[in-house]
Amino acid sequence: MALPNLLLRLNCKEYKNWMKAGLCLQILQSRLQGYIDSEMQKFHRQIIAGISPTARHRPRCQCRSQGKQFQPSCPVCMEWKNNILHHHKNRNGEIHWGNCNPSLWPIDYWELAKVFLPRGHTKSKGPHECDAAALLNLINFCDQFQVSNVSKVREVIKCRNDLMHSSNMKVSSSWLNDFGQKMQDLISELRHVPNSVNDPIQEVLLSDWSVDDLSVNEVDGFNAESFGGEFVYLRNSPLDGVSLNELEIQLVNQLLEELYLQKEESRALSEEDLGTVCKMKTFLIENQDLLPVFQEDLEKLELLLN
Ligand SMILES: [Zn+2]
Repeated sequence: MALPNLLLRLNCKEYKNWMKAGLCLQILQSRLQGYIDSEMQKFHRQIIAGISPTARHRPRCQCRSQGKQFQPSCPVCMEWKNNILHHHKNRNGEIHWGNCNPSLWPIDYWELAKVFLPRGHTKSKGPHECDAAALLNLINFCDQFQVSNVSKVREVIKCRNDLMHSSNMKVSSSWLNDFGQKMQDLISELRHVPNSVNDPIQEVLLSDWSVDDLSVNEVDGFNAESFGGEFVYLRNSPLDGVSLNELEIQLVNQLLEELYLQKEESRALSEEDLGTVCKMKTFLIENQDLLPVFQEDLEKLELLLN
């Protein structure tokens, strides 16, 4: 027997919109990863070519980066910092130096790439661990990427932030249409990237599903099927094989991570963030099927409120 809240949730128009936008960003992310990987390896080789031979095989030093600060006390780190800044399009703004370990710059291309990522990427090992927003930030800030209209990149980053700060995990259909247009603009801006993603993204935006008592159901040509209890996979549709449950778990996880990061950065949460914590808590309590997955998070959210 299906849990009533699970059915309500998976069939709610605005919640579906939220999931569709999240899925589009995941598709974009998977297609960008290989491209970013090869471009950042090229970028690393170029940076090394511009570094003096003595600084390429650098000795150990005591310089450490933290948060948005990196004040090198040795000439080697200073040379690396200046070289990197030369390629950073936000050199006068916020740079999350704390993401990287400067002593690894000569040997690890990704340690260098992390200078261009948003906060919270200290442990990132490569583009395969980055979401769409992080990869788009790289494209936005690193001059290795020549984009004629970078505002198209920023627009999608902004949409992703809207999505992740939507505490009730719902977006309107007009928001989704607007998002679809911005994704299309971005894709035409990145048309030199191999593996175009426009078709699958349009398919997701046009898709719909209806889950009725978690048995096979067909609406508008789209089937939703359940396998093993409460798990729902989309079948016989352009989204064949997409698991709605896995998708929503991934998206809720991202939202929670954002919240924890916010707390880590600023000692006290804003009124707005506290409101989000309350809504997330209520969401998890009301949706019993998700509770086993997010039990630990529920406790963490409780701590954030105290
Ligand atoms: Zn140093």
